[in-house]
Amino acid sequence: MEDRIYVTKSSMPNYEEYCAAIKLLWQDAFITNMGKYHDELEKSLIAFLNVDKISLFCNGHMSLELLLQAMGLTGEVITTPFTFVSTTHAIVRNGLKPVFCDINPHDFTINTDKIEELITENTSAILPVHVYGNICDITGIQQIADKYNLKVIYDAAHAFGITYHGRGVADYGDASILSFHATKIFHTIEGGAVVYHNAELGKSLYDLKNFGIRSEEIVAEVGANAKMNEFQAIMGLCNLKRIDAEIEKRKLLTKRYLKNLKGMSGIKVKETKNDGEDNYGYFPIVCEENLLGFSRDDLYKELARHNIYGRKYFYPLTSDQACFRNKYKDIPLPVARKTADRILTLPLYAGLSTENVDRICKILWDMVSAHKKSRILYGIHEKKQMKSINE
Ligand SMILES: *Cc1c(COP(=O)(O)O)cnc(C)c1O
Repeated sequence: MEDRIYVTKSSMPNYEEYCAAIKLLWQDAFITNMGKYHDELEKSLIAFLNVDKISLFCNGHMSLELLLQAMGLTGEVITTPFTFVSTTHAIVRNGLKPVFCDINPHDFTINTDKIEELITENTSAILPVHVYGNICDITGIQQIADKYNLKVIYDAAHAFGITYHGRGVADYGDASILSFHATKIFHTIEGGAVVYHNAELGKSLYDLKNFGIRSEEIVAEVGANAKMNEFQAIMGLCNLKRIDAEIEKRKLLTKRYLKNLKGMSGIKVKETKNDGEDNYGYFPIVCEENLLGFSRDDLYKELARHNIYGRKYFYPLTSDQACFRNKYKDIPLPVARKTADRILTLPLYAGLSTENVDRICKILWDMVSAHKKSRILYGIHEKKQMKSINE
């Protein structure tokens, strides 16, 4: 049987290099609590990402959860339902209310034109997501935030390494979070970070990820434990050396997908972007059933029949998940809903072969022609019926 192909597969560093690096940890056995590799990774990431300040965490989710706490937000947070559930969890777990805003049909990021009508006297922040690495309307969002005195926090979990007007995209807003989960383009097995500007906020983040401990005898805040350990940090340092090659491979595969799927009406593919504006983290497609003759779910099943597992990212909307449904303001989300019903994220990772990209695209084309044929047959059948009705 052919090997299964999943939507993603973790990139591994050079084995000898990683082992040689972690071997040094046996010398002084300092393996966690902001060690030297932790600090080295922070410095390396600030330089690579071209951002102001960074604070590392055990994972992306905890970086967001503790960031919202550190910022002392209250009341309502305007956010997108078209994201990984972590974004919404972080809001709710801070005792805040998510207010779901609709998205743009072209890039699936929050629709700036819909934000203002959702602002109330209880709104304290806007939390958009650079979904699939698509850059939000940073300027428009900041204008609204300035007008109403709101904080802007970006979930930049998908946007590692992307630059915007010469700066790392995570540098915009009051703060952003990154995820270094094993399935992301850059990983530390599990890991994450907050990119920020305010030094006081940095202190608070540092305390919160270490039980709120300020000094040996003072616990100043109700903290958690969300530190990145040295094994994770070394994984990050090793992976950072290969990140350009990782992105380049993904770029080639993305181009292959785009070339193969060119001219397929009914499938909307991602927009081509300039270098630096994309990290090729994901390859989502939108399936229009009325043009294709088959649905996203049909395609999902057909690929699975060939041992290829796409993912319905992001379906359902987080606002429709059992834990959130009917609990918050019921705001119409027509574009988000339509997108969630039609989107399928196809396999994309550095280790994926071009042959497999071709195979995936061929399955799609075969489905398209099979349905075209059956529609023609159905059309003839219909005409005959019409004829017999008329006679
Ligand atoms: C991966 C991800 C997270 C959470 O990151 P973890 O490192 O897995 O905790 C948050 N938001 C989005 C949009 C993500 O894709």
